[in-house]
Amino acid sequence: MHQTLSSLTHEILDVLDDVTGPEIPKPISLHEPEFSELEKQYVLDCVQSGWVSSVGAYVDKFEDLLRLKTGAKHAVAVVNGTAALQVCLHLVGVAAGDEVLVPTLTFVATANAVSYQGAIPNFVDSDPLRLSIDPVKLEAYLERIGEVRAGGLYNKETGRRIAAMVVLHVFGHPADMDVLQAVADRFGIVIVEDAAESLGSTYKGHHAGTLGKIAAVSFNGNKIATSGGGGAILTMDDDLGVRAKHLTTTARISAGWEFVHDEVGYNYRMPNLNAALGCAQLERLDDFVARKRKLAEVYHLAFDKTSGLNSLREPTDSQSNYWLNAVFAPDRVSRDAVLKASNDAGYQTRPCWVPMHLLPMYQNCPRDDLSAAMTAVDRIVNLPSSPRIVGNT
Ligand SMILES: *Cc1c(COP(=O)(O)O)cnc(C)c1O
Repeated sequence: MHQTLSSLTHEILDVLDDVTGPEIPKPISLHEPEFSELEKQYVLDCVQSGWVSSVGAYVDKFEDLLRLKTGAKHAVAVVNGTAALQVCLHLVGVAAGDEVLVPTLTFVATANAVSYQGAIPNFVDSDPLRLSIDPVKLEAYLERIGEVRAGGLYNKETGRRIAAMVVLHVFGHPADMDVLQAVADRFGIVIVEDAAESLGSTYKGHHAGTLGKIAAVSFNGNKIATSGGGGAILTMDDDLGVRAKHLTTTARISAGWEFVHDEVGYNYRMPNLNAALGCAQLERLDDFVARKRKLAEVYHLAFDKTSGLNSLREPTDSQSNYWLNAVFAPDRVSRDAVLKASNDAGYQTRPCWVPMHLLPMYQNCPRDDLSAAMTAVDRIVNLPSSPRIVGNT
């Protein structure tokens, strides 16, 4: 290694001191929500209305705002992003015993949602720069293990049907959807987008969450906009949109005052109280995206002057919401040194997720070679990314 660990730790601390400035008190968290008078006003109004639970005007308004902000034809508000993902998988026909292609480089919820359907994740590798599924490697993998039969794509090695693929936009940076879609079309599988981290990001001018067949968004407290806890299903498909609403609201059919349900539905509806908070956050989404993009630019300029650390940039065909900024250290030892030095100094930096195939419940799942994801994980450090770092509006 041409650079000592101590020069790397000096570089990260210099950048963090420069970018955050002296006025923000430590510790500085990885990502924290930001609330204004608007959030207080909507939440108070919701409480005063008495409609805090599963029915209320804020849920409808939240769904309207989501459609407006993303261009999605249908938006269905639900209790969290994981539930949204599970229902997406259900709606595209993922059933018990199926396999679903999932990047190993993701948050555990992506794989868990597959498991909730009784399906088995089949882990695939990531593009070293883009961090989402590598389409070239995916195609070679499917050529090797896949066989298209009457009932769909089958895994020759396990005998199971490969029912779908979940594409994640890592840290908000859109995946190369056109190329992934071409591979999916060739093998006859549908794409479910895990857009949990990418609200406000666009790929070739189209919003994340409208790029696949159906998508899941998260409004957890650490995401770019939060409803406390919450999620949403987005789709351009009328049939799936109607089905998503029905299925997440206990599958009740209108029959006067009778409780009549026509299938096993879920009580996944977002409470009105959460939707009130979420409405205020969605009204401020453009401002959050603008400030997070500005913060990313400041990080890029600072890291351009370092010799051992490279910041992760948005793909040239995309505009990222830069949900989490990230930097590549040269290797795992230097990554850990950078993490320790920055956390000791009051900056909450974090490593990337432990790859899914290394977790105990997923280590026996089928998988491709995952070396690019492993290398990326060894090197990635996520940086404090709250919009307030570049000032409030
Ligand atoms: C946050 C997140 C989820 C899950 O969202 P919740 O609302 O926390 O259930 C799923 N996938 C990814 C990649 C996430 O970052």
